[in-house]
Amino acid sequence: MRRLKNFINGEWVESKSGIFLDVENPGTGEIISRVPQGCKDDLDLAAAKAAEAFVEWKDFPAEKRIQYLFKMKTILEKNADEIASICTMESGKTFAESKGEIVRAVENIEVACGIPTLMQGEFSEDISSGIDEFVIRQSLGVGACIAPFNFPVMISFWFFPYALACGNTYIVKPSEKVPQTMTRIFELFEEVNLPKGVLNLVHGAKETVDAILTNPEIKAVSFVGSTKVAKYVYAKGTENGKRVQAQGGAKNPLVVMPDADVETTTRIIADSVYGCAGQRCLAASTIILVGDAKEKFKKKIIDDAKAKTTCYGLEKDSQMGAIITKESKARIEKIIEDAESKGANVLLDGRNKNVNGFEKGNYLLPTVIENVPDDSQAAETEIFGPVLNLKYVDNLDDAIKFINAGRYGNAACIFTTSGSAARKFRHEVLAGNIGVNIGVPAPMAFFPFSGWKESFFGDLHGQSKHAVEFFTQTKVVIERWHDEWTRKF
Ligand code: NAD
Repeated sequence: MRRLKNFINGEWVESKSGIFLDVENPGTGEIISRVPQGCKDDLDLAAAKAAEAFVEWKDFPAEKRIQYLFKMKTILEKNADEIASICTMESGKTFAESKGEIVRAVENIEVACGIPTLMQGEFSEDISSGIDEFVIRQSLGVGACIAPFNFPVMISFWFFPYALACGNTYIVKPSEKVPQTMTRIFELFEEVNLPKGVLNLVHGAKETVDAILTNPEIKAVSFVGSTKVAKYVYAKGTENGKRVQAQGGAKNPLVVMPDADVETTTRIIADSVYGCAGQRCLAASTIILVGDAKEKFKKKIIDDAKAKTTCYGLEKDSQMGAIITKESKARIEKIIEDAESKGANVLLDGRNKNVNGFEKGNYLLPTVIENVPDDSQAAETEIFGPVLNLKYVDNLDDAIKFINAGRYGNAACIFTTSGSAARKFRHEVLAGNIGVNIGVPAPMAFFPFSGWKESFFGDLHGQSKHAVEFFTQTKVVIERWHDEWTRKF
């Protein structure tokens, strides 16, 4: 059984924790590797080496720093099939979904390669007679990201390409549930020949996260995961004087107006809800049918859910893969049970179904429920599984009222052919990522990933110019040169 190592200061090193956790293939139930549980010593060593490397790296010209990123892009593209297979094996998603993640990772590298322009300062001549004032952007020091299980490739790339391009050094901590993908990417990146210590990989769980949040060398922390942990990371990180951006959980509503096109809308809904088996922070979760939309859309939504082929992600026909762990599958089943016991109708039940040939995998087939009572977990909590709640309201105002009362604000979508309904929706809804006739409103790398409410803690988001601001600090210079000094030469 392969035991994974950390990559610190340009070398693969054993963790000092001595404790290893099993990594399971969710699609087959097999144990595929063992990951260190992680400890403070591992993290402190990486932070010390990253801090040493920062001294020279920050003074590399931006133009030179991005040459390393160009090489990373080529490596990801050249090895996309291998990386996607590993990603599928440990996360349970389909091979096509894993390939999609790599495309998104590459887009972030491409945007970060614009740093020579994106990091430019501002200059005002003669703010007073003979005095100029300007602002320059400088790097911070060591940064670190703490990633969730559901995008083993993409999420770390929302952060570290920008951090490195801005002249910082970095530590990536993948989720302990999916540690192999990033390990392989780091092996492939050895070919990039980054100076030692500039980019490090440290495995682990809570103890490693706590070490990130308290290590004085680490100046900026980016977190993506559940809201409970996001709040904790934000509070503890800021208490220790760090910049923190913490992206949390979600429960995304998708509104269907009666005038929306049935074929395209229902196809997109099925892709949004059941993509990655619902384990996506932008997945639609509650489908709100407005007025006559109930009659028009309900049956087709159920039919499209039924039509999804659930299978091991590396099988050719798989359209929906596995749930990350047995515990997570049991948790989702309990949420469905709870809703049912409180009066919800299960219109399509994905529980207790085998996937032929993969009986030991963690599968739950597409599920549709309606009339979910407000006091049930299905109404209140993030399900993070292939479960669709159908809700019926009379008009758009009621839909918006319902959405804005929710605790999360990651995304909200509307399907309509009416420009005024769409405009009202995007203007009034309290969520950071809005989709108009789009089921997964994932911002491109040159836009910020803008969660609101309990889906985000901090001010600057991941990706785009926000990332450049997050990974730099501004220095203002006011400068005067007396004429008489110049005349001496
Ligand atoms: P998680 O919160 O369990 O874990 C995320 C990271 O935090 C992991 O690296 C883990 O090792 C660490 N961690 C877990 N428990 C911890 C604790 N008690 N103390 C310190 N660190 C801890 O999340 P997950 O299950 O891996 O991922 C799923 C969640 O991530 C969902 O809630 C999903 O909505 C969210 N997510 C959000 C976004 C977004 O952009 N807002 C994107 C992807 C996923």
